[in-house]
Amino acid sequence: MKKHNFSAGPCILPEEVLKQASEAILNFNNDNLSLIEISHRSKAFVNVMEKARSLALELLGLENKGYKALFLQGGASLEFLMVAYNLLNKKAAYLNTGTWSDKAIKEAKAFGELVEVASSKDKGYSYIPKNYSIPEDADYLHLTSNNTVAGTQFKEFPKTNVPLVCDMSSDIFSRQLDFEKFDLIYAGAQKNMGPAGTTLVVVKEDILGNVERHIPSMLNYQVHIDKDSMFNTPSVFAVYVSMLTLQWLKDLGGIPFIEKVNQKKAELLYSEIDRNPLFKGIVATEDRSTMNATFTLVDETHKETFDKLWQEAGINGLNGHRSVGGYRASMYNALPLYSVQALVDVMQEFERKVS
Ligand SMILES: *Cc1c(COP(=O)(O)O)cnc(C)c1O
Repeated sequence: MKKHNFSAGPCILPEEVLKQASEAILNFNNDNLSLIEISHRSKAFVNVMEKARSLALELLGLENKGYKALFLQGGASLEFLMVAYNLLNKKAAYLNTGTWSDKAIKEAKAFGELVEVASSKDKGYSYIPKNYSIPEDADYLHLTSNNTVAGTQFKEFPKTNVPLVCDMSSDIFSRQLDFEKFDLIYAGAQKNMGPAGTTLVVVKEDILGNVERHIPSMLNYQVHIDKDSMFNTPSVFAVYVSMLTLQWLKDLGGIPFIEKVNQKKAELLYSEIDRNPLFKGIVATEDRSTMNATFTLVDETHKETFDKLWQEAGINGLNGHRSVGGYRASMYNALPLYSVQALVDVMQEFERKVS
């Protein structure tokens, strides 16, 4: 039987997507060629790219609203740099809510004045800062909607006239948001969309073109827009699998449907963490992520017993990030509810065993 995969990233993908993807590796479109041995300029692949881009906009409700979707390379980590390269003229505001925000700040510093408007670093990123003011003259405000490592998530976004840039790597397509509030959204594919190797960037075209510096072509959003996300050879496989996952999500009922499933999964696990006297959550209750649930044992001496139980139950990827410790259950879109139930069953079995 397939394992219950709680891995944080790369992570679980829908079974049927994996099946279709493996078939396309051998014989794509019944053309007796592999997906990865045809030209990216072939009609067959151009269709894949177009479909991936339009599905992304459609699922986010951003069609015909001045946004462009791009599938780029270099991971979300390259976006830390590209965002600043393309948008930072004088001053940018950043919210420091986790390891990834911190890295984004480090990259952007080279391009202008950086204002860290709030940070939860002092408490191990265990909460989302609430009261802060955003400089009105900032070129943009950057934030990380879901903090994959610590397990916190913005439930509400700051109200501001400053353009919003958001790293949604680990919760894109997981919940309904007013995506029009954002001017630029980026997400590495490997958390909720596909395999590693491509990054989705959704950008409102009119925020571009306002910096004076020369931007190298590969780092220039406008160049990628003008070339329909095919300025150079894209990651054909990663884009194809992302397209299949987006189609899978659309067929299920899109974000409104998956949001309900994700809420059910999160409620099931967090209620067990709160009920079971042997576990405790790590982050502020109101900021808990529906995607990455972090928790620890109340008594660490039972670690070996618990680890053995979940491993025997076919659960994978439950160890916490090395900077946080404890456990992290990542419950991305493709993780079925029964996998969360399997984890809860193990937590209850553990309770019976040690108490
Ligand atoms: C994983 C992750 C990243 C880094 O993504 P890469 O594609 O490895 O560069 C950045 N931000 C967030 C929120 C992440 O979860």
